[in-house]
Amino acid sequence: MITKEQIEAFGTIETPFYFYDMDLLRQTLEIYKKQINRYGWHAHYAMKANANDRILATIRDFGLGADCVSGNEVKLAVKSGFDPQKIVYAGVGKSDKEIKAALRAGIFSFNCESVPEIRIINDLAASMGRKARISIRVNPDIDAHTHKYISTGLKENKFGISPWAFQDVTDLLAQCPNLELLGLHFHVGSQITELPVFALLCRRIEELQQWFIAHNVPIANINLGGGLGVNYQDPNGDPIAHFEAYFDIIHKNLVVRPGQQVHFEPGRALVAQCGHLISRVLYVKVGREKKFAILDAGMNDLIRPSLYQAWHDIENLTSNGRKLRYDVVGPVCESSDCWGQKRLVNTCKRGDLVAIHSAGAYGQVMAMRYNQRDLAKAVYSDDLKK
Ligand SMILES: *Cc1c(COP(=O)(O)O)cnc(C)c1O
Repeated sequence: MITKEQIEAFGTIETPFYFYDMDLLRQTLEIYKKQINRYGWHAHYAMKANANDRILATIRDFGLGADCVSGNEVKLAVKSGFDPQKIVYAGVGKSDKEIKAALRAGIFSFNCESVPEIRIINDLAASMGRKARISIRVNPDIDAHTHKYISTGLKENKFGISPWAFQDVTDLLAQCPNLELLGLHFHVGSQITELPVFALLCRRIEELQQWFIAHNVPIANINLGGGLGVNYQDPNGDPIAHFEAYFDIIHKNLVVRPGQQVHFEPGRALVAQCGHLISRVLYVKVGREKKFAILDAGMNDLIRPSLYQAWHDIENLTSNGRKLRYDVVGPVCESSDCWGQKRLVNTCKRGDLVAIHSAGAYGQVMAMRYNQRDLAKAVYSDDLKK
């Protein structure tokens, strides 16, 4: 919830900008940590969700590791002070340069997504006289019941190694002296709000693990990835993801063998709700059939609505006029640059401050300069307090 004092402070700031509620971030992390510590499990923050320095520093200070999907993310994680022993690295297309950099950094695990990748990591590790720790990212063929662009665990998706290739993997590992197999990795999608999906994932993990046990391959680590969703419909009323219910369902359904370590890679659930994209109304255009509220924030600042039809709550922070229906749009020359159609928003006029809520994950980190627009800056609640 954005406070009255904060809205007042926004008055002099150039829009659009990202506003980060650092208190909410810390509160979210506290609840997350409490839950994960309860079970003695490990967390690696998926930094592709938001890689702002202050956000990374806050998450690092809570003791989380980092989950990276590129060589530069690995570098940034190390530079930001994350313990290399807590860095995991996934991605279907790791380049030689990226693999070497991660080997030099001494990361905890490469989460490998194909048989040829495993071979290359072994060869590169050998050429550097090192041993690489790897996990097999398994494609469990599970429907995460989320948008198809953010589903990753179906057999038609590019991610992970399918069970029919397990024999090839173990045959290959037998010839790879520079690899150490740590365990299995899963990540089936993002913005998953139906918790039974995670129960299904746990049962599937057990089934798949049986294959490795039967083939005498020890699995010391199980990584369940991220994917827990947040409430985009009611960010003010329900600002913290349902971590307790999430870990409870996993605890009840995952078979953990003695000595096995369990890992997670939360992204969105930690950072989505602490971020808001703040903009001003430039114009209200009244047509015959509808009214447009035209904001100074566009799809280049936050691409989720135009990229995967994502829904964000829109609030006029400076009006208590009657609620009217608007098509709320941005200034970019694309028809998909639309924040929402027929949205009920307090009467808008030029200069009103409008918040696009739940913009902390996959927001600023995906911003671009299309139309030569400037990048929106970040403003942190901690700095407004002074
Ligand atoms: C993106 C990603 C995550 C984080 O997903 P969220 O839905 O943001 O929690 C975790 N693991 C991997 C491998 C990812 O690619």
